[in-house]
Amino acid sequence: MKIGKLIICLLFILVWMPLTSEASVQGARQSPDVKIGLWEKQSSIFVSADAPFVLLDSDTHKIIKKYDANVKLFIVFKNKQLFLNDQPIKSKNIGIELENPDADKGIEINKKSYRGSMEIRAAVSGMTVINKILLDQYLYSVVPGEMPDSWSAEALKAQAVAARTFALYSLHKHEEDGFDLCATTHCQVYTGKKAEKTNAIQAVDDTAGIVMLYNNKPIYAPFHTTSGGYTENSEDVWGTYLPYLRSVLDDDAQAPNHHWQLDITPLEIQRKLAAVGHPIGNLQAIELSPLQKPGQNAADRTTTGRIKTMSFIGDKDIVRLTGNQVRNIFSLKSTRFDISMIVPVDKKIDVPLGDYYKKEIKVDLPPYQEKNFITDTENIRRIHGRTGEIISFSGFGWGHGLGMSQWGAKAMAEKFAVNKNGDFKDILNHYYKNIEIKKIY
Ligand SMILES: [Zn+2]
Repeated sequence: MKIGKLIICLLFILVWMPLTSEASVQGARQSPDVKIGLWEKQSSIFVSADAPFVLLDSDTHKIIKKYDANVKLFIVFKNKQLFLNDQPIKSKNIGIELENPDADKGIEINKKSYRGSMEIRAAVSGMTVINKILLDQYLYSVVPGEMPDSWSAEALKAQAVAARTFALYSLHKHEEDGFDLCATTHCQVYTGKKAEKTNAIQAVDDTAGIVMLYNNKPIYAPFHTTSGGYTENSEDVWGTYLPYLRSVLDDDAQAPNHHWQLDITPLEIQRKLAAVGHPIGNLQAIELSPLQKPGQNAADRTTTGRIKTMSFIGDKDIVRLTGNQVRNIFSLKSTRFDISMIVPVDKKIDVPLGDYYKKEIKVDLPPYQEKNFITDTENIRRIHGRTGEIISFSGFGWGHGLGMSQWGAKAMAEKFAVNKNGDFKDILNHYYKNIEIKKIY
């Protein structure tokens, strides 16, 4: 009997062992850690946590002290030394960890709560605060900051995959600073636990480990609010051809900024140009081809009509700017726009009364809008110089127009929900071409 049991035991181990090693490999392929640089060059910071926490020397990993939940610490860096609640400490770099890291609790830095652990590194210029966190937990906070939590599940999932891919692509951006990603728009905005939302967390969990690859590498996955009808080819926005950033039709008509308008006076244009180093004098004309249907546009526009260059002609100087420069200077929502000059008519006219007298009467006609203004060439839009004249910018979309349009993703997801015929992968394959969607952990 004993031998029989032994054989059964051995057989069990032989069968079970490959399964366990397979399981451990799977287990290891969980969300990787990322290091997020929260603050740099700090001379003082407040630290706390809503669960018991420890302070440790992050070079030796020795615990400096344990603290109860909600104890507040004040860490100062002065004269090349760290001080903890006014007492100097020997450590150069310190770590802060929750005693039970699995708990759904956070470490507070400067009154903001974060998951994961913290590292405070002292450098000549001050302290750098780094949050070490699982990539997917980082996304819990990032995704709802990029897309409203009330939007359809498949749109949120597409956003989660785009944000995850964008983070993995950007991992080396801050190598020299000692962390992976910063917490601002330079990388992706990350403000910790407070920003987390239920549906976004669900979308991150439902797509855990799923990324977009090209040649087996995470793609550069930009996204924007709304394209205004067509997304853009990468080379038309910043000169570099990327096979996965191609212009596609974008069903974003429900977006609030699908169409926008901004009226600016010639004087304001002169002032704003002068403020960025282009004193052109009195604005005489603007050179820009008319916005036409996609595929029919002129040399100063991309195929979808976004502006490559336009010129402002003054009585002292002419300045030629890129579409992106114009967008920044005048705070425009996109570079896909046209302009028209709106010239008010006289509000009063003299009416002859008999042979010798005149009477001034008020008139109330609509302003005169010059639609096909052709002078030297059809691209020259002249300023008339009348009081009250305005230049009306009429545009489409909000953002650079590269990659996924969030309002377009919303529209696609809503259609899928009604017709039950698609998911977040269809959204991603629409906005990012020639990609592979793969679960990597
Ligand atoms: Zn950054």
